[in-house]
Amino acid sequence: MIDSQSETPVPPSSPPTETEVLDTIEQAIRRTTKAYGYQHLSTIATALREQFGVFEPSDYGCKTLLQLIERYPEHFKVKWSAPAHKGLSHVWVRLATEPKRKEGYGEKPAPSPKPKPRLMTVTEFDRLSKWLEAHPGCDGSLRKTRQWLRRRDFLSMEGNTKLLKRLGAHCDCEVLMNVEGKWPEE
Ligand SMILES: [Zn+2]
Repeated sequence: MIDSQSETPVPPSSPPTETEVLDTIEQAIRRTTKAYGYQHLSTIATALREQFGVFEPSDYGCKTLLQLIERYPEHFKVKWSAPAHKGLSHVWVRLATEPKRKEGYGEKPAPSPKPKPRLMTVTEFDRLSKWLEAHPGCDGSLRKTRQWLRRRDFLSMEGNTKLLKRLGAHCDCEVLMNVEGKWPEE
């Protein structure tokens, strides 16, 4: 009888397709942190077991995982880190096409240059005012204003305090009293 309760049409015992295996191998290689993108064969084997539970090279007509990998020279390049031994513990695999760079797959793209700290917008000045109102207690300096600016490294400490002083604020309470409505629009 057909089990109508069954929700999985594929019996769990059927092995993954060769394409699925190749995809998993490629993903495992891409996770390497080694130079030129080489991944250790045992790490690839572990990834396959984690992905599929059981992985049998014989399901694909191979004696070993290495044999399966070597069947696709257009996909994978294999090297032995100790050619004299040719033991499996020295097998490294990378993708045939990439990367050529020493850094491997470059998880870290070139850092984009940090934008130069800038002046506050009017909206940001209003936020500063609200914050100063919520944290009263002027000690005769711009201490709290500086504290607020310091937490926003995209804002220029020097540029903003200079402009505040020019607009008549030499301390935190003067920011509220003298600058409100005077902060320039962009
Ligand atoms: Zn003051």
